[in-house]
This record gives sequence, structure tokens and C-alpha cells, in this order.
Amino acid sequence: MTCAHSRDAEGYPLPAAQSAIDDYVGRIVHLAQKHEFATFRIGTHLKPDVPDDVAVELKRDINQRVALAVCELLPDREPTRNSAEAIFLLHYPQHRVDVELEPVFVCGRYRKFARDLPHSKWRCLRCRGKGCNKCGHTGVIYPTSVQEIIAEPLLEAMGGTLTKMHATGRQDVDVRMLGNGRPFAIELVRPEKRHADLPALQEKINSSTKAIKVEQLQFVARRMVKIIDTAKADKTYRATIAAGLPIGAAALGNVRRLSGADIHQQTPERVAHRRADKVRVRNIRHLQARLPEGVGASNTFEIELTTEPGLYIKELISGDNGRTYPSVAGHLGTECLCLELDVTGVHFDPFSEE
Ligand SMILES: [Zn+2]
Repeated sequence: MTCAHSRDAEGYPLPAAQSAIDDYVGRIVHLAQKHEFATFRIGTHLKPDVPDDVAVELKRDINQRVALAVCELLPDREPTRNSAEAIFLLHYPQHRVDVELEPVFVCGRYRKFARDLPHSKWRCLRCRGKGCNKCGHTGVIYPTSVQEIIAEPLLEAMGGTLTKMHATGRQDVDVRMLGNGRPFAIELVRPEKRHADLPALQEKINSSTKAIKVEQLQFVARRMVKIIDTAKADKTYRATIAAGLPIGAAALGNVRRLSGADIHQQTPERVAHRRADKVRVRNIRHLQARLPEGVGASNTFEIELTTEPGLYIKELISGDNGRTYPSVAGHLGTECLCLELDVTGVHFDPFSEE
């Protein structure tokens, strides 16, 4: 055993100079004025030329002394070994401190009543958001999105450099989201505050627009976001369909035979550029079909169905040039087009998973 105080490897004395510790503590206290956090962790980064045994002791020395001094100056912040809200990375011997902040996660359910509102921010792919002729020099295809409508008041209240949208699936821009709404979580990256009056913010979001409504806004931990992102939820849809021929009661009976059927669906042509081309098999739990009230036959009719997650409904209706089988069009022997589609149920409650 040698005395730790006598070690000096290439100019890394142990213990570290008090002036370095004071400098780190000053920087952390300064950062703490800008960013709210209840728990923190200190890590030290050394240059690679420090011998391993010296590095272990030097890191322990710096981490402990800085954490102690921070606790004395900021008694309401708690050092932790586990998931901290702020992680301070000290670069030694340079006097530099980086801070990593745990994002803030706010989840809830949203309903969407507009048929021209995307789920998340839709950047123009041609200019990658820089602005071009295609997007009218806005950088985006749609002026706003569910994500932006919800995130803006949250960013205003808690700060942050950007937001990410998490959700249990998503719907096309022209599809409404009704019923009990879709579970989602907004991630605020590098927040300044970690608390806000969420009932008031929910009210603010809901009164700012007729296009969406949010409910059950609440703060959640990161693991809840994963639950929301990966949940495999059955969905219920209502679709209005235009058929190439007048549809009567007997033909509707053919459509109803899809109830309980397994649908073989090759990746639809319209999404093939961003999804792997493969055949999925998805079950229709049940399906109802009806004509407009008071008519014996009609070129438009309605279906309501509940399916396993991952079934493309517009293609189930059209048959997608034979890529989806069986289909509504196939069972009717005529062309079918989805005129309007609504999601009326996402059968998953993240709050019961706690
Ligand atoms: Zn553009």
C-alpha cells in the first residue's frame, strides 16, 4: 500500500487541488439557477493518459468532494447513484462542466377532430426543414400538428430545447381520433423547470384550438413512455366507403363475413418507401356493416370494426391491388374506396399498467 497523498502521475496530484473543486462547485451552482432538479449525480472525465489506479482514486476524490460541497450550498438537492434528474460531468483538469438533464415527460390522451392535422411535426423532406418552393418556404408540410399544439404551452411553462412525441400508434393526417383518445407522451428535452400547473395547461391547450382535446395530463417517469410507445393495442374504426356498384343487403352480408377473419396484408404501396416490405397477418376481431338509414341499396355504406394493431384499414377496404387479402373490395367484387376514416377507440390504458 502506498499513501494516496503521495501519488502524482504525470501531473495529477491526489487529492485534487481545492481550487479545482471550488471552480466545479461554482459552475454547478450557476447551472442550478437555470435548471430545476431534485436529484443529481457527479461524474468525472479524465484524460486517457491517467493510469487506471490513479484514475479510480482521483475520480472518487473529486466526485465526493464536489457532491458534498454542492449539498452544503444547495441543501434541497439530493445526490443519488441512480436515475438522477441532473448529471454533471466534470472534465479534469480542464475546468469544464457539462450537464445532462433528464427530460420531463408529460402524458395524457388526445382526441383529434380535424382531417388536415398530422400527429407530429411534418417537416418538408425536400428541403429538410430549410424552406423551399414545395413547402412555401415554411420548412413544413402542415402549419401545425397535434405534437406542436400540445408542446407549445408546455415549453412555454417549463422551457426546453425541443420536444419529442411518443404515442400508442398514430393515425393518418386525414383520420380523426375520437372515442377515448390516444395515449401519448410529450418529452421535453433539457427542461429548465420540472413542475407546472398541468390542469391549467390542459385548459390552455384545449381552449387554444377546436382541432384537438387533451385529457388526463400528468407527469410520468421515462419507463411509462416506453409502455405508451410499445403497447400493442386493439383499435376500433368507423369508415365510410364508396363502392363501384350499388350495395344492397345481400352484398353487405358478404362484407360482414370479414368479421373474425385473418387478413394477409403486404406492406401497402403508399408506405412501402419507409416500411419493410413483408406480409403481415392481422385479425379482425369483429366487423359490422350498414347502409345509410332508410335506403335499400347505396353506393356508400359504413363499416365499424375492431382489429389487432398494425392492420392498414384503407387497404383493407380497397384491397390495395391484391396486396391485402381478403378485403372489402374483394368480397364485393367491385372497387371500394375509403372516403372517411375515424379511430373510435384505442383499447389500452397506460395508467392501469402502473
Ligand atoms: Zn421544403
